[in-house]
Amino acid sequence: MHDELIQNIEAIENRIMNACEKSGRNREEIKLLLATKTVSAKRIEIALNAGYRLIAENKIQEVKEKYEALARIPHESHFIGHLQTNKVKEILRYNIDCIESLDRLELAEKLHQRLTIEDKHLDVLVQVNTSKEVSKFGVDPAGAIDLIKAVAQLNRLHIRGLMTIGLFSAEPALVRPCFQLLKQLSEDIKTLHIPNVQMRELSMGMSGDLEIAIEEGATIVRVGTAIFGKRIYPDSYYWNEQNN
Ligand SMILES: *Cc1c(COP(=O)(O)O)cnc(C)c1O
Repeated sequence: MHDELIQNIEAIENRIMNACEKSGRNREEIKLLLATKTVSAKRIEIALNAGYRLIAENKIQEVKEKYEALARIPHESHFIGHLQTNKVKEILRYNIDCIESLDRLELAEKLHQRLTIEDKHLDVLVQVNTSKEVSKFGVDPAGAIDLIKAVAQLNRLHIRGLMTIGLFSAEPALVRPCFQLLKQLSEDIKTLHIPNVQMRELSMGMSGDLEIAIEEGATIVRVGTAIFGKRIYPDSYYWNEQNN
């Protein structure tokens, strides 16, 4: 089990390297984020001990369950799931370094309020729904700039970039436009020079489409299945409104 995990990570490393070569990018420009939903703390520990540093969960319940076991191992933790407004206080207990799934002003305001009380700051990425699938979270691309301008006013939150989940399709010609849209949006936002807004990160690409994402400018690729194996729950369990 240990060796297989390491082999899987090496295979992903190769895929990232090949995509970098193909698009003339440096490997250092891209962070591999381990999407660890349903993965035990023990297996996450193996990956961290192999030198990986960036992990992310989708549900607060899982963050909570693994928090103690992982606390002594140096790592950076992101949150990539749908966050309910009434869970804001709870999530701030677990030293999350970045919430990648900020998708609405109400959530930003609640976070800001709570961060003010606790005298903390938090990095966020704004999640954009680039695939137009109703089942996916994220702000509509047309509303992204207004949301970002509003969140920029909340000085406890620091926007570091954008995140998206591409269309689920084996057809690159259908997936690529999602990533191109996110990249274009980040370029448009850069030209606005909004105070308290950086467009440093583009979090896009997963097990099935990370090469395309890298070719289109990803700085974070989020990989779960290709490293840890298939999950017992379908993705809809994590991504649909009803289940969150
Ligand atoms: C699970 C998940 C991933 C990783 O997906 P895989 O297809 O398992 O690599 C990436 N991003 C988000 C938001 C996820 O929930």
